[in-house]
Amino acid sequence: MLDTDIAPCPTAATTVGDLTVTALPDGYLDIPAAYFSNLTPEEAERVTPAARFGANTWLIEAGDRRILVDAGSGHWLKERFPASGALDWAGDDRARDRADITDIIVTHMHADHIGGLVAGAASLFPQAEIHVQAVEWDFWTDEALPTSAPEDRRPLIALIQSLAAPLKNQIRLHSGETDLGHGIRLAPAPGHTPGHQIVHLSSGPDQLLLLADTVVSDALQFANPEVRYALDSDPDQAAVTRKKLFERLTADGIPFAATHLATENFGVLKRLGEGFCFQPL
Ligand SMILES: [Zn+2]
Repeated sequence: MLDTDIAPCPTAATTVGDLTVTALPDGYLDIPAAYFSNLTPEEAERVTPAARFGANTWLIEAGDRRILVDAGSGHWLKERFPASGALDWAGDDRARDRADITDIIVTHMHADHIGGLVAGAASLFPQAEIHVQAVEWDFWTDEALPTSAPEDRRPLIALIQSLAAPLKNQIRLHSGETDLGHGIRLAPAPGHTPGHQIVHLSSGPDQLLLLADTVVSDALQFANPEVRYALDSDPDQAAVTRKKLFERLTADGIPFAATHLATENFGVLKRLGEGFCFQPL
């Protein structure tokens, strides 16, 4: 074999009936152990000093539509998370890939999910429709939010508001469950943020769920869904949402993926003792 014949790394991709879903990992983020609570000392040990989060996004190919689910951090979080923003959507050599995108599903508006949509003060995908829950958009773009929020959250809010501004003419607001066609449905799953949504794909007998940030730490929250995360807007509601989804995933055996799993692979959820475990497909 010649040196030039090096096999490319396999990309996690799967089909759901007529749909193709490809994982597009955006690097990783190391989240301090102190962000987690309601856990035993043994569990804390597992994420000391930090929990390594993956940063998965996805491309759904459906007929003539190419739909991104989130876009990663872009260049916005590099100072704090040097390994974030690996997708580099702003790169000059990505112009054609960007132009091909018809729709973008924003699961929620944290900067590690929408940063990749913006470079400087410009939208990188000006031709695409961006699908967001109205509750989410209204919450983050509220002019009063920076002054009503705790001081340590204000820089995060300022960044989100500056990212939202150049996107506003492309935003399609949805209220509750929404059918985007081709078997692609949006479903509210609040707690991580007020208008956080997940993506349910179905085509023929096949189904897939993209859980976004309803589970953030695979090292902790599969085994113990009660573990709380400091960056959840409402950690108690997030735990209720997470447990409900885990019950559904184990009952129905639906394959899924989630943004911050350490793996980009799709998998299924199994019961293990009091909790659950992830089994890659
Ligand atoms: Zn996130």
